[in-house]
Amino acid sequence: MADVFIPGSLEEAVDFLADHPTTAMPIAGGTDLLVDARTGRSRPERLVDLSGLRGIEGFELDGELLRVGALTRIRSIELDAELGRRATALVEAARVLGSVQIRTMATVGGNLCHGTPSAEMPPSLLVHDAVAEITGKGGQYSVPLAAFFVAPGRTVLAPGDLLTSVRARVPSSAAGSCYLRQTVRWSMDLAGVGVAASVHVEGGAVSNARVALCAVAPVPMVVTGAENAVMGTSLAPDALAEAGRRAAEACSPISDARGTAEYRRQVVSVLVPRALRIAWLRATGSWPEGSPAPVNGVWTRE
Ligand SMILES: Cc1cc2nc3c(=O)[nH]c(=O)nc-3n(C[C@H](O)[C@H](O)[C@H](O)COP(=O)(O)OP(=O)(O)OC[C@H]3O[C@@H](n4cnc5c(N)ncnc54)[C@H](O)[C@@H]3O)c2cc1C
Repeated sequence: MADVFIPGSLEEAVDFLADHPTTAMPIAGGTDLLVDARTGRSRPERLVDLSGLRGIEGFELDGELLRVGALTRIRSIELDAELGRRATALVEAARVLGSVQIRTMATVGGNLCHGTPSAEMPPSLLVHDAVAEITGKGGQYSVPLAAFFVAPGRTVLAPGDLLTSVRARVPSSAAGSCYLRQTVRWSMDLAGVGVAASVHVEGGAVSNARVALCAVAPVPMVVTGAENAVMGTSLAPDALAEAGRRAAEACSPISDARGTAEYRRQVVSVLVPRALRIAWLRATGSWPEGSPAPVNGVWTRE
């Protein structure tokens, strides 16, 4: 059994972690960490309970800037109507994560800091050019989210560092995004492939595009080649197919219980064009307001 330290402030949490760099770990919702402790993947002697810390929970939209506190529960993202319009991919990713019980406990920060290659939050934040804001013993610093993930289970965080929030750019008009994933089971399964896409449309053509993947490389990845394939186009089928082909080529999936590497590449080549197309339809107002993307590429009853 680990001792639990309940800090009164962010500074106290950082100090405690810095004083016990090899034995203490932060805990937020505990949905990853408690499983890790039970399976022996992590053996913290001291847990620093972040859940009572004020100022790093919840999210706010200020113009085009979205700031999501690390302690924000996945469930509160899933249920927010304004985010559903402005950061649709993020809400769609939240919607398929685990179960209601898991989403009620799980935090955005925990999802990012655990560094799971299939984690649901990174792709839909990466397509909004997200930046991680971190506080450590030496003060505060920022890292582009694309550079935050180092290897499976590893991020740039040094012992004692805490992720405090993520800021992202969320355009207010002529933009749309989408998150699609493939799983073996319909629910309570990790992504075999996860794809987020966002597009900004000006004058009938894509003026900005982002494509990001999870579960098909050691870390979540942005696929610049796929983005370039659709820039300046009106997403004709050949441009979409090229984006899918480039994404499939760029990723490096493994073969495991969720599918072979070859199968995953094929799924990437299908889901990337589909996610881009849905993002386009949303950006141009042609997608039914509030209508979610299909799960596993198939429409389900809600
Ligand atoms: C049954 C089940 C189903 C799941 N399904 C999915 C799924 O479909 N998709 C998916 O992506 N995930 C899934 N998960 C994983 C998990 O729920 C998420 O990764 C969750 O968001 C983790 O958040 P947490 O607050 O519970 O993290 P915790 O378990 O509290 O922490 C996770 C890690 O991050 C560190 N940490 C937490 N917060 C911070 C911080 N602010 N700064 C620095 N380090 C921090 C902790 O020390 C720990 O190493 C599932 C888990 C379970 C048990």
